[in-house]
Amino acid sequence: MKIIGLTGGIGSGKSTVGKRMEELKAVKLQMTDDIGHIALEQGTESYDKIIESFGKSFLKENGEIDRNLLGQLVFANQDKLEKLNAIIHPWVIDYLKRDIENTKKENKYLYYVVESAILFQTGLDRICEEIWYVDADEEIRRTRLQENRGYNVEKIDSIMAQQRENEVFKKQCQVFILNNGELSEVDTQIKKFLKE
Ligand code: ATP
Repeated sequence: MKIIGLTGGIGSGKSTVGKRMEELKAVKLQMTDDIGHIALEQGTESYDKIIESFGKSFLKENGEIDRNLLGQLVFANQDKLEKLNAIIHPWVIDYLKRDIENTKKENKYLYYVVESAILFQTGLDRICEEIWYVDADEEIRRTRLQENRGYNVEKIDSIMAQQRENEVFKKQCQVFILNNGELSEVDTQIKKFLKE
């Protein structure tokens, strides 16, 4: 089972490409955002560490973390954001390492795909054997985000500005998927790179 990292800028089509990979081949897809959400669940070591570091002001009555409230607490404060990331990111990497070992034992998949917009920044690249970069022209990404997600120009500008550094990591990727057109063109590229 080959471990593939899937990265790229906002709206480039990482999730779309991951889902197409899953449809076309024996792929297990893991979206790191989803695992980041599990990291916030009660009963995890990361949940306890978050309460220890940030208090309880963002907890719902039933003890669950309200992600919006926690977000408000950290996003305006770089130190807090870094502290939260330092709790969540290693937890996510450990989770994925364990899941990779368990998935290998299942013997069902040829590829294990880890999708993340911040694959390199979190060190997840180190658990991948090959890294794919999904790209689409900025105008196309903007249009898709406006039309399909209802994002406004300010929101897109701000996320794109935060992600400028991603371009630097392109050099460290081995496979490039261009997603400017139809999904059938994505499928053709996936089939070329995922040989069975
Ligand atoms: P994010 O960084 O926010 O997680 P992403 O890189 O995972 O985004 P997607 O969610 O896959 O990007 O795609 C962004 C939007 O563009 C989605 O609404 C998706 O349906 C649409 N989209 C992606 N690829 C195509 C395509 N080839 N044709 C039409 N729409 C597309």
